Amino acid sequence: MSRLQDLKNTVRSRSIHVCYVNVGSCNGCDIEILACLAPRYDIEQYGIYVHNNPREADVLLITGAFSPQWEDKLMDLWEKIPEPKVAIAIGNCPISGCVFNREGSYVDPPVRKHIPIAAEVPGCPPRPTEILQAVLSLAPVVFKDYEGDGK
Ligand code: SF4
Repeated sequence: MSRLQDLKNTVRSRSIHVCYVNVGSCNGCDIEILACLAPRYDIEQYGIYVHNNPREADVLLITGAFSPQWEDKLMDLWEKIPEPKVAIAIGNCPISGCVFNREGSYVDPPVRKHIPIAAEVPGCPPRPTEILQAVLSLAPVVFKDYEGDGK
């Protein structure tokens, strides 16, 4: 592998841009994501940066059991994220609907029915360390050696 490719891979593995979306959660998982930003977990020390603009993101974190209002919106948001990209389902809600998935409910889990999901982090809610671990284990694999269409 060339030194240039080595350098690119190093930068990509230490500059991971994340945005997140709540498609119908109780906010419990969102609070754990916010905890990742606080000094105790300090997500930026791992080179992970949070944005609210999907066009700047590599990784989409999703919380919630998928309420019908998100039917088109989530796909629109996903399409705005440039390749290469991954989505990670955070918590039991996007995986199974958790407490919201009961008779008469309008939620439509799992979220992997609506967009491709590369990893799932179960828990109600999962710990910040588990969320961090998912991003850190997945991102370098996805972005390593990526050159895009133009090469
Ligand atoms: S998994 Fe649990 S904590 Fe997370 S949004 Fe669903 S109900 Fe709330």
